[in-house]
Amino acid sequence: MTTTPTAYIGQAVADLRWLTTVPHTIDHCVKLRAQQIAAERTRWAYGASPTEMVEDIIDSAWGTGQHADPTGDGFGRRHDDDAHETMASIRHAADLVRSSAIDAHHHAARLLEVEPRAPHPSHGLMATLNEAEVMLIVLRDRIIPNDPDDPDVRSSAITVLADNPHMMWLLRSAVGETASWLRATCEAAFNAASGPERDAVPGRKPDECRLCGSWRKGTVAVSRGRCEQCTAFQDHHKCKPTEAIVRRWEATGTSSTPPGMILEAKAHGRKRARSVG
Ligand SMILES: [Zn+2]
Repeated sequence: MTTTPTAYIGQAVADLRWLTTVPHTIDHCVKLRAQQIAAERTRWAYGASPTEMVEDIIDSAWGTGQHADPTGDGFGRRHDDDAHETMASIRHAADLVRSSAIDAHHHAARLLEVEPRAPHPSHGLMATLNEAEVMLIVLRDRIIPNDPDDPDVRSSAITVLADNPHMMWLLRSAVGETASWLRATCEAAFNAASGPERDAVPGRKPDECRLCGSWRKGTVAVSRGRCEQCTAFQDHHKCKPTEAIVRRWEATGTSSTPPGMILEAKAHGRKRARSVG
């Protein structure tokens, strides 16, 4: 289990670096996510081109989209509350990581009586995450003394930070958990787009999910023939959802699945594997 301040910083830096590295930069993942949402929306007639739809979904969280109109009648706002929420959450998380990294940096500098680095203003998602990463690296490698000839000074400084609850909350929760959520969200969009359905574009009739398509209508295969919900379920539980699970998702309008049903699905998968082999 991660417990030291430097381990939290190391994990957050790794997550932020993933999000700022080609081919899965946050900007690219946001675009993929918007495309996936647009592809799912082809069930409704928008009278908009796929490109316009993707742009509108991305813009919807920024409040600067050219489609934004005071009557609230823009097509991007008619059905896309989920899309808006997803984009707004990503944007919000990026801002939160940056401001929390700056807070953590300054809080540590005060505790250790070291001059902090002044944060740079940053515009755009990439710059926002880059700035968060720099603040954390400078915190880890300079605010915490880092003289190889004097390791005791470093370890006692780390103890000072570890003993401060607010410091640890900033690193574990405000910085760490937010960066980790951001990475998981973007990684899911990136992975969903790397399958054979990568070239699926809005406008083409979407394929139904091969796992749950016979149990409900309107599913869209986004990753290896599976809908987003089945993909998430299978990735997480390493088994296919059963009919009962899919019916429950439909009935409750959520992705929640009781543990007992997951155990049944796993057992079902093992039984099927035995009967095949
Ligand atoms: Zn499915």
